[in-house]
Amino acid sequence: MTDSVSALIAQWIRDDVRAMHAYHVPDATGMIKLDAMENPFVLFGDNDAALREQWLEHLQMADLNRYPDPQAPAVKRALRDVLSIADSYDILLGNGSDEIIQLLIQAVAKPGAVVMAPVPGFVMYNVLSGINQVAFVGVDLRADFALDMPAMLDAIAQHAPALTFLAWPNNPTGNLWSLDEVEQIIKASSGLVVLDEAYTAFTEADALPLLDKYDNLLVMRTLSKIGLAGLRLGYLVARPEWINEFDKIRMPYNINVLTQASVSFALANYDKLMEQAAQLIAQRQILSTQLAELPGVEVYPSEANFLLLRCTAKNAGEVFADLKVKNILVKHLSAAHPLLENCLRVTVSTELENKAFVAALKEVL
Ligand SMILES: *Cc1c(COP(=O)(O)O)cnc(C)c1O
Repeated sequence: MTDSVSALIAQWIRDDVRAMHAYHVPDATGMIKLDAMENPFVLFGDNDAALREQWLEHLQMADLNRYPDPQAPAVKRALRDVLSIADSYDILLGNGSDEIIQLLIQAVAKPGAVVMAPVPGFVMYNVLSGINQVAFVGVDLRADFALDMPAMLDAIAQHAPALTFLAWPNNPTGNLWSLDEVEQIIKASSGLVVLDEAYTAFTEADALPLLDKYDNLLVMRTLSKIGLAGLRLGYLVARPEWINEFDKIRMPYNINVLTQASVSFALANYDKLMEQAAQLIAQRQILSTQLAELPGVEVYPSEANFLLLRCTAKNAGEVFADLKVKNILVKHLSAAHPLLENCLRVTVSTELENKAFVAALKEVL
């Protein structure tokens, strides 16, 4: 039986799919979870018990027996309101921005198409290109994680990418490309440039005003890093003509009824989410200062809700494992890219969890 299934798999499943590994998420039960840039605050927690009640009442009205509205108009209206998105632009919603990345790649996946991004960068650009059998070209950052502009511009000229992703700020390095660099890349590209602003809440940078200037620009964001990772809602803002094309290949019911109901309620309380982001920015400064004082680690500047560290005295794999024994889960990045050798990425969390992390790291080092 098993043998015949293996033979059938070999016969029918794509060779590249058989060679892939499923996306691995480590078990974090009972741990302080600092590996995935989640927001540590509970939405409408104990301090907001009244709001929590209202939210639950609101959810009771959701028609779970009906398919969701495929355009999620209440969600889009709420996004337009809180972000002041002009009527001249449209919004595409995704089941997380991961799904939007997938849609964009599928839409440009002609034979010979290339997707490009600086590396180390967000892994899904590469992973989803592979799944869709589109070539991915990664352009190495410099050792200090700045963009290598001559290399970027050369690669754009050589490969004419259909799609270039710029995470702004970048994950996992945490830094921000300059506006001038971003505009040079957009101008040099005949293809689409996606500014991925997953961390927009934690930086002053804002790509939305650039939409007025460039026909080939798309701006992508997500609610995941501001406290709603579990709802899975990403969005793309762009000219209606672009959105119209991508909308054709979107699964019609990709944003479920409970997500639609929760997001429109949460966005009506957007100030709460922004207060939490402000707290995390303050904590980022405190944590960064404390880590900079520790011998044995180097801390990189960050405009996001995480910090990138390089272990200089002890192997990062050992530091990762020793932290795990102390019930603290961070992300070990040595294998992700040669520039990340001995690097760990840690999410900025509450004062209490950050303190626990620093104390544990001190002992481990
Ligand atoms: C986390 C992250 C995303 C994906 O977010 P989801 O909306 O949760 O799918 C996209 N881009 C970057 C750079 C990220 O770090």
